[in-house]
Amino acid sequence: MEQIRDRHVATAIGAALLPSPPRPVSRRSGPAPASVTPRPVANGTVSEQPGSVGHGSISRDLIDQLRALEDMKSAISSLQAKIAVAFDLAQRAEQAAAGVPAAQRGGGVAAQVALARRESPNRGGRLLGLAKALVTEMPRTMAALESGQLNEWRATLLVKETACLSVEDRCAVDEELAADTGTFNGSGDKAIITAAKAAAYRRDPRSVTQRAAHAASERTVSLRPAPDTMTYLTALLPAAQGVAAYAALTRTADSLRSAGDQRSRGQLMADTLVERVTGTPGGISGVDVQLVMTDRTLFRGDSEPARLKGYGTVPAGWARKLLQPSEPGELTRTSGTGADAAAVDIDFRVWLRRLYTAPATSELLASDSKARLFPQRLRRFIETRDTACRTPYCDAPIRHIDHIVSWQLGGPTSIQNGAGLCEACNHTKENPGWSVRSESGPRHTLNVSTPTGHTYRSTAPPLPGRERMDWLASADEGGP
Ligand SMILES: [Zn+2]
Repeated sequence: MEQIRDRHVATAIGAALLPSPPRPVSRRSGPAPASVTPRPVANGTVSEQPGSVGHGSISRDLIDQLRALEDMKSAISSLQAKIAVAFDLAQRAEQAAAGVPAAQRGGGVAAQVALARRESPNRGGRLLGLAKALVTEMPRTMAALESGQLNEWRATLLVKETACLSVEDRCAVDEELAADTGTFNGSGDKAIITAAKAAAYRRDPRSVTQRAAHAASERTVSLRPAPDTMTYLTALLPAAQGVAAYAALTRTADSLRSAGDQRSRGQLMADTLVERVTGTPGGISGVDVQLVMTDRTLFRGDSEPARLKGYGTVPAGWARKLLQPSEPGELTRTSGTGADAAAVDIDFRVWLRRLYTAPATSELLASDSKARLFPQRLRRFIETRDTACRTPYCDAPIRHIDHIVSWQLGGPTSIQNGAGLCEACNHTKENPGWSVRSESGPRHTLNVSTPTGHTYRSTAPPLPGRERMDWLASADEGGP
């Protein structure tokens, strides 16, 4: 084991020293970058004293390389920003030539930037906004990015903090901060935000105040997984409401504890939150908790993990416990495949909805519909299969079930011809030049084509039991 690790380390060092990375793309100001040319090992490893490492050692070169590569990442980010702006102009020109009305030009540009950069459409929009601000309104921040004095994230902070200003004021703040002269050398994120905020406030105190009012319109609730089958339910609220909600929870918890409740304060606050939001003691009765698992996991004590909708993968035992019937044998299997049966456990009142998977492929089974709109049963199958929006890199929740080949063109209302999309992606694919087609394969696969002729593949996530099937299939292929 030790030998293997040492060999990996030696290989990594060799790989780091061998190629000499090219110089940054451009460098307008600031000190010249340290040389990244590797020194011969024989010169560098001789120590003057036992335990000390001489100047010019391998270590020194490695640090020089790290810094040079970091400078290059910033320079590449600045180049990507310029290319994104050029792409936006090119697309608008092409759309104008194709007769797209002025108000609709620019549609799908951010989505294409996102696909090219392997980012979500949402982040693609922010990257395009950043690029436009840097190229057209903040030349000094752009120069700092080019020379490596700011990285992409820190340039984003300056753009974000000046987003509420007019173009004129933003240019003035950019000039005042003069990031390209090294004003932010050694500054962390917080120092940069503080400096940008102060400059923006000096230029236009009114718009900064208005921005605070606008922030309240962005209040929202989100859910993200935490370790050990826990989850973070987060609310972004105006300060007064957030403080009021927290105070109400602590008050209730304190009064329950003084009445003799043995649960901790934190536990009581969490339990109270769930009870009040769902409107029921215990929290989850009557709410559609959707679990996807194999019949082996449900009935035979198999360890294949299940999938909880809105959360992700959960251990088999945890899933079984959630569905545990109060009387043994209450939960029995209904016959037939492709059925969409619902069983109800009286005590827990958690709905158990059975979406059967095909034994051979572990694909979900469902029959087609003659209707144009996806009926509830098919929608549920597709939502379960896709989990989130099917656009590559987009993790947004599904809002629409879309016909891959449109109904007008004879596309059927079927599980194969349906795909779950978020609101934004559903609009994006309506732009001229976008098309989607499905591809046959072991898992449901789409190919998204963009106006530039690039295609991106999206494969539905594996269902519980699927990976094991893949493994068995490959084991079979290897046999005699
Ligand atoms: Zn999406």
